[in-house]
Amino acid sequence: MAIDRVAISKVAKRYGTERALTGVSLELAGGSLCALLGPNGAGKTTLLGILSTLVRPTSGQVHYHDGAAAREPDDELRREIGVLAHAPLCYGELTAIENLEFFAGLYGLPDIGARVTALLDEVGLEPRARTRASRTYSRGMVQRLALARALLARPSLLLLDEPFTGLDRGGAAALARALAVVKAAGAIVVVVTHDLEAIGDVTDHVCVLRRGQLVHEDRRPEARRQIAGGYGYAELRELYHRHAD
Ligand code: ATP
Repeated sequence: MAIDRVAISKVAKRYGTERALTGVSLELAGGSLCALLGPNGAGKTTLLGILSTLVRPTSGQVHYHDGAAAREPDDELRREIGVLAHAPLCYGELTAIENLEFFAGLYGLPDIGARVTALLDEVGLEPRARTRASRTYSRGMVQRLALARALLARPSLLLLDEPFTGLDRGGAAALARALAVVKAAGAIVVVVTHDLEAIGDVTDHVCVLRRGQLVHEDRRPEARRQIAGGYGYAELRELYHRHAD
């Protein structure tokens, strides 16, 4: 199965008396990249956690569709979800190749050799670095390896929380290009970020959260899409500040 649509319906989340989300409804479609934007504490990470199935909403539902049918979030469905969280989850003593082989073994993925090379090519981790302990990597290289790990099981729903943190402009642009490839392959990509410059060109769906509510949603019409399929930095920034401030 592959998740080709996600329907979020009136999702709310409370932590004690704290209302992190207060009734968010949203549709995500395959082959698109949704930037989840909003000021600190808006509920972005909480919504990402709910999409990953790791956080249970207090009320409301998330329906994951495979073709026409909606599926319950069982183990098979969870294997379709790739997550890149704050912590990159890679072992410093292992090389990039060893890290990916280790996680592939953990996920029970067979015949991983060629896939590891293809993935490291896709995320742009230079061949020379692949056989070096990953603790010697720059922040950007670690992020690329973390993205490769998140992509190992070919997720159809890829969730990323602040993936550009600590990257310079070149590193951020390279990561954005890797996300464009994942999107073009048909996955649903959701990115929580404050880095509008990095994500602008590849964003074709934007959601602005504020105080737990979806205050604005916009999709880029097909005909207006640029090569990478996105708004571009200036338009995304204008749109964000109009609704978030
Ligand atoms: P940021 O941009 O700062 O990362 P965010 O938009 O991702 O913020 P969340 O992290 O989802 O926002 O938090 C939304 C609200 O829920 C905040 O007020 C936060 O304090 C609260 N919150 C989040 N997680 C928990 C938790 N585990 N326990 C208690 N409160 C929480």
